[in-house]
Amino acid sequence: MVVTQGVRYVNRSPWLHQLRSIRRVRTKLRSHARAKTVIIGGGIAGVMTAYFLLRDTRTNVTLIEATKIAHGATGHNAGQIVSYFERSFSDIVQEYGLTLAARGQEEIISAWKLLKSIYADVPLTAEFSHFIGYAGCSTLAQVVSHLENKRLRALAKLRLEEVYLSDRAPFLKQIPGKYKQLYTVVPHEKITQLLETRDTYYAAFASKKGCLNGALFTEELVGYLLTTYPRRFTLYEHTPIKALALGTHPVLTTKQNKKITAQRVVLCTNGFEQFTITDSEGSAINTLFHDYIRGVVGYMAGYIDQTPKKPFAVSYFSPLFTKREDPYFYVTRRAFELTKKRTDTLVCIGGPEVFLDDHTAYKRHRPYFVKREKEIDSFVTKTLAFAPLHPLYRFHWHGLMGYTRNGLRAIGAHPRHPSFFLNLGCNGVGILPSIYGGYRIARLIAGIKLPPSIFDVKL
Ligand SMILES: Cc1cc2nc3c(=O)[nH]c(=O)nc-3n(C[C@H](O)[C@H](O)[C@H](O)COP(=O)(O)OP(=O)(O)OC[C@H]3O[C@@H](n4cnc5c(N)ncnc54)[C@H](O)[C@@H]3O)c2cc1C
Repeated sequence: MVVTQGVRYVNRSPWLHQLRSIRRVRTKLRSHARAKTVIIGGGIAGVMTAYFLLRDTRTNVTLIEATKIAHGATGHNAGQIVSYFERSFSDIVQEYGLTLAARGQEEIISAWKLLKSIYADVPLTAEFSHFIGYAGCSTLAQVVSHLENKRLRALAKLRLEEVYLSDRAPFLKQIPGKYKQLYTVVPHEKITQLLETRDTYYAAFASKKGCLNGALFTEELVGYLLTTYPRRFTLYEHTPIKALALGTHPVLTTKQNKKITAQRVVLCTNGFEQFTITDSEGSAINTLFHDYIRGVVGYMAGYIDQTPKKPFAVSYFSPLFTKREDPYFYVTRRAFELTKKRTDTLVCIGGPEVFLDDHTAYKRHRPYFVKREKEIDSFVTKTLAFAPLHPLYRFHWHGLMGYTRNGLRAIGAHPRHPSFFLNLGCNGVGILPSIYGGYRIARLIAGIKLPPSIFDVKL
């Protein structure tokens, strides 16, 4: 364990721990280069966009990363694959209508298939598992809100998963009759077992979940792209972009003052760009763009358990969770190779969040204060039946979530700049949306006309 001055830890995730960071990197960018499709940002979104563009179109792809592949949110998340949004489905239906909301949900669900197809086509070692996980609820308001989402999903003919309500839920009789067909009342012990908790939760909402080291997945894919498409794929790491001038042929300027003129640019920076964007008249479009994203820093901790345990992913909504902005705790448990010699179990817990007024102020290398570990530890002690009372945390990390104004990932062409595409806005849940985003961008660039989507860019 890396402890500095007794009160803080180094920001180091288990995902980065497993990276190899060995690849052939083109370090020399000419003073003025030309490129077809330039992707800015080498997280899962940028690399998935590169993958689908190379697989499904004929364009050449240049991927530019300010630091190293997968060291942004992709290397600092919970690694839990889920197909829901951080925003409730009923909220999305209210804004976009049932048809568009349901289509958006199906688009995200389709990313499971895309992920499986990548594993079938590419020799990857990054761990990927899927199973049934749960959301644990403790209050009537939480249960009704989840049930309303289910009701709308049923109306939209989306696949429904099980909902279990405890026979000891004090609010059982207050649940409106219209939801009756959507849940099963079970002995309280079943809820406790499903959530593996020692705390009191009254409902368990099942859904397909998974575990993925998205950073290793991303790194391995980059290695694959470099060897499979040596003529069509170029990677520049340690190359921050400081300016982007839009126009028929966008021009990018690096911090080292090198220029690239591109046919098109895809921005996959999670929203936290440290650069200016101007349009063809030279006017800055930054104001709009920066306002589009709000920063939230998420804190996590992980401990190693040397006994094998089955994979597990649960979100716990305690009575303190009353609105979308409130933090909740999320837990994953998975097999993990701490060293090449043995496989242990890794348990990761996330929850504490800090909002940033100025999202550009986030520094990846900022230390991780013990205060955050304490918040996580008191949740673990109170909640997780399978965990020691005070585990020894081996990993501590924080990462930046970029929240878009509508809480949905922005995927597509900028409404006024057809050669400028976005696949960004992490919104707390971004693995499947990034994968689907890459696929959608490749289809758009291939010239396929797609129906309107809740992910369309609206700046
Ligand atoms: C604490 C936390 C927990 C999370 N848990 C989950 C989860 O369990 N499940 C889930 O689905 N999602 C989760 N997410 C969200 C998910 O991790 C992200 O949505 C996803 O990784 C975003 O990937 P990305 O490629 O868009 O962004 P990033 O991985 O951040 O990649 C963006 C890249 O762009 C680069 N870049 C930025 N500016 C420039 C520039 N000017 N020039 C060149 N390069 C630049 C950055 O260096 C970075 O590498 C979590 C996020 C956090 C922070």
